[in-house]
Amino acid sequence: MDFSWTDEQSTLHEQALEFARARLRGRDDDDDRSFARATWRALGDFGALGACLPRAHGGLGLDALTTARVVEGLGHGARELGLVFSACAHLLACAVPVAEHGSAQLQREVLPALASGEQIGANAITEAGAGSDVFSLRTTARRDGDDYVLDGAKSYVTNGPVADQLLVYASTNPAHGYLGISAFLVDARQAGVTRGEPFHKTGLGSSPICPVYLRDVRVPGYRRLGAEGGGAAIFQRSMAWERACLFAAFVGAMARDLELCLEHARGRQQFRKPIGRHQAVAHRLADMKLRLEGARLLLYRACWRLDRGELAALDISLAKLAVSEAAVQSGLDVIRLHGGLGYMSETGLDNGLRDALGSLIFSGTSEIQRDLIARGLGL
Ligand SMILES: Cc1cc2nc3c(=O)[nH]c(=O)nc-3n(C[C@H](O)[C@H](O)[C@H](O)COP(=O)(O)OP(=O)(O)OC[C@H]3O[C@@H](n4cnc5c(N)ncnc54)[C@H](O)[C@@H]3O)c2cc1C
Repeated sequence: MDFSWTDEQSTLHEQALEFARARLRGRDDDDDRSFARATWRALGDFGALGACLPRAHGGLGLDALTTARVVEGLGHGARELGLVFSACAHLLACAVPVAEHGSAQLQREVLPALASGEQIGANAITEAGAGSDVFSLRTTARRDGDDYVLDGAKSYVTNGPVADQLLVYASTNPAHGYLGISAFLVDARQAGVTRGEPFHKTGLGSSPICPVYLRDVRVPGYRRLGAEGGGAAIFQRSMAWERACLFAAFVGAMARDLELCLEHARGRQQFRKPIGRHQAVAHRLADMKLRLEGARLLLYRACWRLDRGELAALDISLAKLAVSEAAVQSGLDVIRLHGGLGYMSETGLDNGLRDALGSLIFSGTSEIQRDLIARGLGL
């Protein structure tokens, strides 16, 4: 077992950290509906928006482990994770499925623009009645000659308000349930696609999200990903990428939380000594370090398995669950350890907790991850 990074991996990580420290400085508190387009394009120039896309289509051609290390650097350096979250949703849940399952024509048409950030991608599967039970979706895709006609409503679409391309999951054969679902890349600017009012979220403020409605949306056949009925498997695969690589942003955020807390524990004096000299505070920091390293190693191993082409479902769920639960705990620790300061919004010390809360829910809730782990144990 080799725990060392290659020179390329170390350099990319450092560059991502520097980029995030300089550019990912958080939302404008007065308007969490805005989208930082210039920063988005800078993320594209840096390569993050096409990190694991093939070089032939404008990507960096990185494997999952290296992609995760880049995302970790972004999460570590960012003050707020919204734009990193948006970038990962765009890359891992929209562009990667196109790169893996899209027709040659579709790949030529959209991948270079997605990799550069000229276009923005989104993934639309969740519906009002299909959340955790995601394959009970009601959106339909009816064949009409060489085209499909899509109808339905998607409830939470990250990047929805600004997306150019929507990866929509719809039923081509409702009688076949899971095996009746197909995936389509829909041009979000075409007739019949409308977007609802953006939601205000608890955290991840610089990542826009809204419902998307599809009414008689005509999609050419070459925009179907994979085979008809293969949509559920494509979604599972995109979730493997997302659970493995996106959550590296929260590993980075935990590393930043620990740095912040160590600095405060050394500088803040109470009872005539730095608070870090009080055993209860020191132990909190030790536990933060333990949770960070445990979650980080699980995530690296999940990515490593994904890169070896192994069925990494169990490792990926273990990593997703460990990282998200640890990130919430880490966000609470930041607030506790800073005392009153931690609770004052002006300090931004509550950002980490607010961002981390979402991670318990998207990409499959903690309860669903535990179900998947139990299934992996043969239960
Ligand atoms: C910030 C954010 C971004 C998102 N972005 C997107 C996106 O880009 N595209 C998209 O399609 N969706 C997106 N989602 C939606 C997300 O995937 C769903 O919210 C999630 O899958 C949970 O579905 P739900 O909200 O309907 O909750 P529900 O499924 O209703 O779950 C409610 C509660 O019941 C529990 N529960 C449900 N079923 C079971 C079970 N079988 N056993 C035990 N407990 C269970 C859940 O764990 C949860 O605690 C996003 C959500 C958030 C918060």
